Amino acid sequence: MSIDASFEKVITVARNAFNSGKTRPLSFRLAQLRKFVKMMEESRTEIQHAINLDLRKHKLEVTLYEIEGIIHEAKVFIDNLKSYASPDVLPFNLLAALDKGMIEKVPFGVVLILGAWNYPFLLSLQPMIGALAAGNSVVLKPSEVAPHTAQLMAEMITKYLDPECYHVIQANPEETQHLLKYKFDYIFYTGSSNVGKLVMQAASQHLCPVTLELGGKSPAYIDDNSDYEIACKRVLWGRYANAGQTCIAPDYLLCSKKVETEFVKCAQTIVKEWYEGDAQKSQSFTRIISERHCLRLKNLLDTTRGKIVLGGRVDVQDLFVEPTIVVDVALDDPLMMEEIFGPILPIVSVNSIHEAIDIVNSRPRPLALYSFAKNSKVNNDFKDKTISGGVCIGDTMWHCVWNGLPFGGVGNSGMGRYQGKSSFDTFSHHRSVLDRSMSPLSEKLGEARYPPYNDTKINMFTFIIRHFLKFDVTAGPIFTHILAFLIGAGIIALIAWA
Ligand code: NAD
Repeated sequence: MSIDASFEKVITVARNAFNSGKTRPLSFRLAQLRKFVKMMEESRTEIQHAINLDLRKHKLEVTLYEIEGIIHEAKVFIDNLKSYASPDVLPFNLLAALDKGMIEKVPFGVVLILGAWNYPFLLSLQPMIGALAAGNSVVLKPSEVAPHTAQLMAEMITKYLDPECYHVIQANPEETQHLLKYKFDYIFYTGSSNVGKLVMQAASQHLCPVTLELGGKSPAYIDDNSDYEIACKRVLWGRYANAGQTCIAPDYLLCSKKVETEFVKCAQTIVKEWYEGDAQKSQSFTRIISERHCLRLKNLLDTTRGKIVLGGRVDVQDLFVEPTIVVDVALDDPLMMEEIFGPILPIVSVNSIHEAIDIVNSRPRPLALYSFAKNSKVNNDFKDKTISGGVCIGDTMWHCVWNGLPFGGVGNSGMGRYQGKSSFDTFSHHRSVLDRSMSPLSEKLGEARYPPYNDTKINMFTFIIRHFLKFDVTAGPIFTHILAFLIGAGIIALIAWA
């Protein structure tokens, strides 16, 4: 079967399943979410193994970020699905006094999820939980760059979840271009900005809505008045976890020369301690995903005009890049021209928080922003005078752990958000529904809208709009509710009598 024929077959099965109404009942979605949890719990060993083959990631990182995080998200959905899915019923309004207005959360239809390789399970399955819970059929295309995890995901989903509603397609970039020609009802993409543009272009052919979870250069600022040791550990953890292949890793550090000296001294001790003297031999240090990316990082180190003060070793055959710090980095240095996505931390020295703010504002909007200062005014300045997808004060990456906080970028770092309830909302169309009364009283009340028009009708509607429309009773004191109700009842009686 040709690749196009096989895509068409999968999409048709997913669409027919959606159109059959199978995914609509909450009981079905809850049953699938429970199976999802079972799938993750019963596949721990296989997941560890597959991710180890793709990235040589320590099982602590796999357990926390790729297994427990996903199980937690699915359980949050199981506990809260009823409340997430319940319609928002509108309050009493004089123009619709006998009617019922509500905002329903309905699924889009068939959702395409394009995953990335750096956290291969998390970045494919976390959005899938939201899409499934919102009642969509899902076609998941994991990244081909992590082939063992992509294969395992396909096997797991086929074995545990409904085979008509949820599908995994394995495809390389060229094949993915073909896939993107088909009509989906929503596309959720995680990856680079360049491919993000292609996805958005393809989606525009079908006027298909998209969420783009992209990357970029996320800055960290350490103030002169800060706890250097804690700040150093937290910045290095963000930079070196998963060998720096994290979209929200602190990409470069902004600080004074004084902080830089302390930071580097501290980092030399910490790195030795964390990776037991040699990161290449340490089980706690992940490898770079491919030779191409390893050579890209090597080239950055070969061409930088900055000074390497920690690490710097690259072993392409072993896909290893040593935890590295580079100082005296100029803003036009190769290290500052693209997202590093590896364990290299450039330090750009600044003389003040204002200079740091100007640097951030002169660049594309970052996905995350980190600030370490004892004085909250400095942290607030850095936060309030810049724009970023998210902010974490006093740490790096920790804002993603809490799934009450929506995750997403802005500008070049993406559009849209997910995690917890925000995932449910992303994958739901918020449909306005008005259930109008067809009673004779309702008809009488609305009669003035019909021709022939005259000045009395104009005056009456103008009066109602100006004075009574504001009684859209959402909250406020009980007095307002009673007053609105009495006025409404009075008008209804008056018009009915007339
Ligand atoms: P990528 O864009 O190369 O790949 C992501 C997905 O797009 C994969 O499924 C891949 O098969 C597909 N793809 C690749 N080329 C394609 C093409 N020409 N046409 C159609 N589809 C194509 O991204 P990557 O290299 O896997 O990831 C690195 C980037 O992703 C970094 O910039 C990183 O910051 C970003 N990222 C962002 C997040 C986030 O949540 N915001 C998470 C992880 C990675």
